[in-house]
Amino acid sequence: MPARAPRAADATLHHKSAPQRALEKLGLLRDIDLALHLPLRYEDETRIVPIAELRDASVAQVEGVVRDCQVRVRARRQLIVRIHDGSGDLVLRFLHFYASTQKALAVGQRVRVRGEARGGMFGLEMVHPSVKRIDVDTPLPSLLTPVYPSSAQLPQAYLRKAVGSALLRADLHELLPESILPPGLMGLRQALNFLHHPDPQTSPAILQDRNHPAWQRLKFEELLAQQLSQLQAKRERALQRAPAFRQISGAKDASLQARLLGALPFTLTAAQQRVLGEISQDLERDVPMHRLLQGDVGSGKTVVAALAAAKAIQSGWQCALMAPTEILAEQHLRKLVAWLSPLGVEVAWLTGSRKGRARNSMLARVASGEAALVVGTHAVIQEQVEFARLGLAIIDEQHRFGVQQRLALRAKLEAQELEPHTLMMSATPIPRTLAMTLFADLDLSTIDALPPGRLPVQTRLFAHTRRDEVIARIRDQVLLGRQVYWVCPLVEESESLDLQNATATHLQLSNALPGHSVGLLHGRMAASEKAAVMARFAGAQAPGRIAVLVATTVIEVGVDVPNASLMVVEHAERFGLSQLHQLRGRIGRGSVASTCVLLFGEALSDAGKARLKAMLDTQDGFEIARRDLEIRGPGEFLGARQSGASLLRFADITLDEAVLHQARRAADRLLDQHPQVAQLHVARWLGSREHFLKA
Ligand code: ADP
Ligand code: MG
Repeated sequence: MPARAPRAADATLHHKSAPQRALEKLGLLRDIDLALHLPLRYEDETRIVPIAELRDASVAQVEGVVRDCQVRVRARRQLIVRIHDGSGDLVLRFLHFYASTQKALAVGQRVRVRGEARGGMFGLEMVHPSVKRIDVDTPLPSLLTPVYPSSAQLPQAYLRKAVGSALLRADLHELLPESILPPGLMGLRQALNFLHHPDPQTSPAILQDRNHPAWQRLKFEELLAQQLSQLQAKRERALQRAPAFRQISGAKDASLQARLLGALPFTLTAAQQRVLGEISQDLERDVPMHRLLQGDVGSGKTVVAALAAAKAIQSGWQCALMAPTEILAEQHLRKLVAWLSPLGVEVAWLTGSRKGRARNSMLARVASGEAALVVGTHAVIQEQVEFARLGLAIIDEQHRFGVQQRLALRAKLEAQELEPHTLMMSATPIPRTLAMTLFADLDLSTIDALPPGRLPVQTRLFAHTRRDEVIARIRDQVLLGRQVYWVCPLVEESESLDLQNATATHLQLSNALPGHSVGLLHGRMAASEKAAVMARFAGAQAPGRIAVLVATTVIEVGVDVPNASLMVVEHAERFGLSQLHQLRGRIGRGSVASTCVLLFGEALSDAGKARLKAMLDTQDGFEIARRDLEIRGPGEFLGARQSGASLLRFADITLDEAVLHQARRAADRLLDQHPQVAQLHVARWLGSREHFLKA
């Protein structure tokens, strides 16, 4: 029986049927959502083929009258239906069926049947074809039948009806003024009608081609909504007030930034000076900064962050610096304390694992303003933490915070009377198109050169059967007083397998390196244990120093131990490309030549090979990012706004750069000239999902 397609809006008022719930699960709530749910492919039900002309292994539609319908047991119970159309007979075979199926296909019933014809025991047959009961005068559809992406609880027939009626009801009138639309674009209604119900004359190649004008229209619309939503957020923020960090004349800390610069053991690179200039300019304005500082691993973002913090502090404001993991936060802490404590700055330390009295006294000093700099994990933004005068929030590796954490942080910062400036930092260089799509609301600063004197890391590939040779290399390095990372792969399905593997390697290396300390770091350890191991690896020449650190990927980001000169990555083919690049960035930080050994297993996929090859070919983070985008596609690219990226259903930012630029220009003009239309367009396209784009 054909299901009644409900009005989408009814669904919330009454008891929901399984298909209604399934629609909701797919996010198909409003008429417009259904109208924008495009077919995966199409079936041609506009033609009937005479049974006598059916060819083996071809998909076709026939029409006939049931001659015979019986349950038989041949090896297994099945329903055998024989139909006839004047030209010949066809057997329909059902291995799964209900009693009602048998009843529905009574002798004399006229049916339209679509399926693949195959030579069977009794001539041609169709197994589990789709069958429609019809009358003599039931018309043939005149258009191709769409097949939609669906789920098990959502029958195609139901979805088709729901989409079909939503398409009629949905408000698809042209919102965009002609002056905004790029010339030659198809109308929205026309584009959707075409894609849902194409004319049967349309060739399959045209339907597949996402450059068809109908597709171009949808891509433009979608990218426009996305650009509008972000530019709007940016403009709204321009109306907020933030503390302007101007020099307090005569204050004793007035030259904190200059004193820090003077105390550093190195001078800033030109690239660091440039981005510091960009950041400083923002910080002197009374509009909140929202800036993303990107720079390849090891490019020296931390010191730029410290100098920005100094600027806030010397103007009498507090600064919070957050990192996604405790290890990383603690490493920042160590650096910042070393740089800033001698200059009289009090640094507080806040993480989830810090409890009790220590935590309370820390909170009190943050609330009183005594602690000018607060370093920690996302615990820094938890509700109980009150700042006296928070003026700058710095978020390291911001894309590794979860969407919820990022939204919470944003909410917390925006709730302040004067909104703090925000500096986000990322070591994942983002290709330009991706940055434009995902971060249109942010200003971008890029450190595009490494500090001088870095020796390039040599990268070598080894089959894992040569593990012993690799261990011999480790011994050489350790005897020279150098340190080594051994990275074990994360086995997705099983954390305990990870652990077994890492533990076994730890044991093997301990035995192979008598007299040297081998450490183990993995995700199951308590934060304090991890910190203790890291401290022993990072520590100076002390006798207890760890020479070889065996770790699961917890060392992935930010760790800075310049004396480490060799990294071994086991089953490197299992890692993502940017992950490998991040890992390799842990070495080559000191003045000695370093080597990265990528051990690979036997079963190399094409993508795995492509990743390893890219690692051999280049050390340029932007080139790596470009290749990564090619191999993986944008959906997976950034942990960052993953949800935001996957909101793009039609456009593909690796291919649609031209449309993206059109959308960007149109978004600027629309916001200037027709702000209400901009609002309507965003609501039409994004509905309630908009806030994810701002996370
Ligand atoms: P990342 O950008 O990956 O966070 P870090 O801030 O950890 O990089 O810097 C990497 C290393 O380079 C650190 O040891 C840091 O002290 C050092 N460094 C930063 N800037 C310079 C510079 N201008 N000259 C020399 N060394 C620098
Ligand atoms: Mg860093």
